Amino acid sequence: MNKLVLENLTKSYGDVHAVNDISLTVEQGEFLTLLGPSGCGKSTTLAAIAGLDRPTSGVIRFGDHVLFDEVTGQFAPPEKRGFGVVFQSYALWPHLTVERNVSMPLELRKVSRAERARRVDEALELVGLSGFGKRYPGELSGGQQQRVALARAVVFRPPLLLLDEPLSNLDAQLRQSARVWLKEIQRELGLTAIYVTHDQEEALAMSDRIAVMRAGKIVQLGTPKEIY
Ligand code: ADP
Repeated sequence: MNKLVLENLTKSYGDVHAVNDISLTVEQGEFLTLLGPSGCGKSTTLAAIAGLDRPTSGVIRFGDHVLFDEVTGQFAPPEKRGFGVVFQSYALWPHLTVERNVSMPLELRKVSRAERARRVDEALELVGLSGFGKRYPGELSGGQQQRVALARAVVFRPPLLLLDEPLSNLDAQLRQSARVWLKEIQRELGLTAIYVTHDQEEALAMSDRIAVMRAGKIVQLGTPKEIY
């Protein structure tokens, strides 16, 4: 089973402990949300799991693989981890069509042309953007761009999906339906997902478990029912 395990994870900037000695296990197929106010360390934790940022100390394991261990010096770069990520900083490629944007993770994995076409169509349908394949990102709304980013993140069926406020560009009404839809995708594909939000309602609606963060620490961990 591909469990994600964080052991005593810390990331410090000088004497600011952005993430302060966090330990957490995320089970395969689980939807876990990191919930807390701005600046509490959610994005730093997610970036450490993605490999975008090197922690100061601790251990990160996924299944049988050690992704980071400060003591042994092990650090797997993001491309070796192969996780699906939707981060604000991971923008779409503006000079590539929607189709090529979504296809890119498959091209990098040497998936055949015919199989790529099939999977890209499937992913675009999943995010409700069939027929948008030939457009460029600049020709889409912010919310549509977020959905393309999501299609790109799930198209290769990643073993772990990392989502940092992925619905932030949607208006309130769309956001509501997008939650249901995203949760359905995750369940349908059986993906393990870690979701970052400051929105309590969103966390309660979507998560199997919620880790409430304050000042770099997990202060509460439980099901939405337990947290509420
Ligand atoms: P959140 O995602 O919960 O809003 P972050 O993980 O982005 O919080 O930030 C946690 C803390 O770490 C904040 O106090 C932030 O100012 C600090 N921080 C994040 N990145 C850096 C950086 N590159 N340099 C210095 N401090 C940082």
